[in-house]
Amino acid sequence: MGKVIMPKTLPEAVSHFRNDANCHAFVKAIRWPDGVVRCPRCGSADVSWLQNARVYKCSAEHDRRKFSLKAGTIFEGSPIGLDKWLTVMWMAINCKNEISSYDVAREIGVTQKTAWFMLQRARLAMQGDGGVASVAGAPVILRPNRARGHEGAARTPRPSPRR
Ligand SMILES: [Zn+2]
Repeated sequence: MGKVIMPKTLPEAVSHFRNDANCHAFVKAIRWPDGVVRCPRCGSADVSWLQNARVYKCSAEHDRRKFSLKAGTIFEGSPIGLDKWLTVMWMAINCKNEISSYDVAREIGVTQKTAWFMLQRARLAMQGDGGVASVAGAPVILRPNRARGHEGAARTPRPSPRR
């Protein structure tokens, strides 16, 4: 368990992520690489999946015990389905800068404006480690957009090898 299945071609990606179970497995494998789902509030692994509500529920006693698969990821707070998000992530990872928001819009059936936003968010997410694992990084959502911040400020200085 915990293995990320990465489709090889775009048509493969589109059909792979159209399947809800595949999306779930994909995000789950990224968020919890060891295969153990943990509550984002208290860290407890004693959680159950509520199939009807499509959320996890922590068995510990605290508020906001239910959490979705999207919680704490760059997809949080977005009404756009994981099927579309993951396809865009796939495109951003595998096609790099060769794709435009128009390509994305056409491929997943959203407006160009929405596609642009998704692509931006996907690319920001990948600035972390350049890989798919960064979609699980919540801080990405909070990052200021480029117009407001200095691009260089996001880089971490390399520690000096001198001793
Ligand atoms: Zn909890």
